[in-house]
Amino acid sequence: MSARATASRHRRLSRATGRALFLRVTYDKHFLGIALVAASLIAATAASAQSSIDASLMAEIRRIRAIDNHAHPPKLVSSSEKDDDFDALPCDPLEPTQPGLITRGENPQYLAAWKDLWGYKYVDRAPQHVKDVLAAKARAKADHGDAYPSWILGRVGIDVELSNRVAMGRGLNDTHHRFVPFDDALLFPLDNAPIAAQSPDRKFFMSREDMLRDRYMKELGIGGLPSTLAEYLSRVVTPALERQRQNGAVAIKFEVAYLRSLDFGPATEADASTIYARYARGGAPDTAQYRRLQDFLFRYVASESGRLGMPVHIHTGAGCGSYFYLSGANPMLLEPVLNDASLRKTTFVLLHAGAVAYSPTIGYLVMKPNVYADFSQLTWMESAEHLGASLRNWLEWYPEKILFGTDLAPGGSPEIDWEEIAWQTTDNARRALGIALTGMVRDGEITRAQAMTFARNVLRDNAAKLYRIDGTPTP
Ligand SMILES: [Zn+2]
Repeated sequence: MSARATASRHRRLSRATGRALFLRVTYDKHFLGIALVAASLIAATAASAQSSIDASLMAEIRRIRAIDNHAHPPKLVSSSEKDDDFDALPCDPLEPTQPGLITRGENPQYLAAWKDLWGYKYVDRAPQHVKDVLAAKARAKADHGDAYPSWILGRVGIDVELSNRVAMGRGLNDTHHRFVPFDDALLFPLDNAPIAAQSPDRKFFMSREDMLRDRYMKELGIGGLPSTLAEYLSRVVTPALERQRQNGAVAIKFEVAYLRSLDFGPATEADASTIYARYARGGAPDTAQYRRLQDFLFRYVASESGRLGMPVHIHTGAGCGSYFYLSGANPMLLEPVLNDASLRKTTFVLLHAGAVAYSPTIGYLVMKPNVYADFSQLTWMESAEHLGASLRNWLEWYPEKILFGTDLAPGGSPEIDWEEIAWQTTDNARRALGIALTGMVRDGEITRAQAMTFARNVLRDNAAKLYRIDGTPTP
């Protein structure tokens, strides 16, 4: 735990120095020496207390069987198969970027995960030792068969996982996994070459969306793109959503911030119909025209999804790839959609809580009756301390609107794969909750009983209510 402890100490030191500097300019020169020492002591004590977690509260938080609002669990495959459906827009084919410190392999949480999940006996990562992890994993896979993914979920205290995939697959067809499909492809039915030309990432991503739209149309028995918008809506968009619902979807997902900014403006069907009809048989609309069609389609899909009882998940905040536009993923850009009275029957869930740049906006945005947020992705991207500070802020607004999520996905190496990420993200989330709630109780904001209610809200009850998942944890 040394790297983690060092980082933590560094943060405490920075906070203490900051407060001391603030006090320094407010005190008379005469008292400066005393003031600095006193301020440093007070700040250090406060920071240290802030980082401590009430042990009994933490023990109770660890017992809550969670509902994971957002994850990309891999299906089980044979040695000759590949799971290409865990994300519509996978990040691994992009130009590689340097991982942030928390996500690097040397994060000591992964050693803790090995120890807890696989009985790992060592304190290093020597290849001859890591072989034990791989052997234990292979044994567990053989022992549990198709129940292996759910067995892992049980080990980390997740009861139900919303599984954001193109399609479900072997090992995921049980009550512990609920389907959340992707619908970005429906927003981009025309010639996508100009978007593909915007960056190497969008070139790859648009090829994936074109493929996915073709797949959806093929599944519906539609040979080619209909020539009018009315037909596209009635023969492709609505049936695709209805089919997803029939296949068990509890929500739908947009990761459209990878393809354009989230500022979906007002749109009329007449304007959208004209643009669609003009380019459905070829040729590329200009950016402004195409965006107006996308604006209309986004609102149409959101409205239909609401009618079918499926909340709409939207990626907000930081995304993968070195060409990602963080400014275009600002959840505040969604205000025209979230304030659209005609869409109030649709529930929106702001995934990743505006990760990195926009977390402070979330507490206020979820005030709207049809808006929730989850902190998936932040659970593997941020430390428990950093996340704990954000969580405290959100809980001080609307604890009934915040959802736990892992955003777990295949990890890229056999020894640090989705299982270890599941362990690390749930551990981070529970500790972050412990930090936030301990601080709120200590500072007299809430009672201990309320702290436990909020912990259950965030880890389970808010999602159970939103997706109408049975309140009784399955064994
Ligand atoms: Zn995700």
